[in-house]
Amino acid sequence: MKTLRNLQDEQGHIMSGIEHPRLGNVVGLFEEVGELAQEVMEIEMYGENRKNELADECADVLVGLISLCNSYDIDLEGAYEKKILKIKDKIPDWREKYGDNLKKMRGKMD
Ligand SMILES: [Mg+2]
Repeated sequence: MKTLRNLQDEQGHIMSGIEHPRLGNVVGLFEEVGELAQEVMEIEMYGENRKNELADECADVLVGLISLCNSYDIDLEGAYEKKILKIKDKIPDWREKYGDNLKKMRGKMD
């Protein structure tokens, strides 16, 4: 299993010499998030079976995020580890405050 560090290194190697400017990476990431939203729209609003396309767009978003992180020399794995620790601290409170309603909404919307 590749780590986020491995993915950043691999992508940096593959894209070597054809990196976008940093701003291009931001715009590219937004473009891919828009395409991801389009797939969710097709599935949720129009009942289309597009799980493969959704997975492809999820991968595009990850590639875009990694490009952005690489262009700013951000250690995504390290940033993720810090963030998930902060989130873990909040989970008991969120579970108590929102858990029941979110369960109800999942039952209604998913
Ligand atoms: Mg795409």
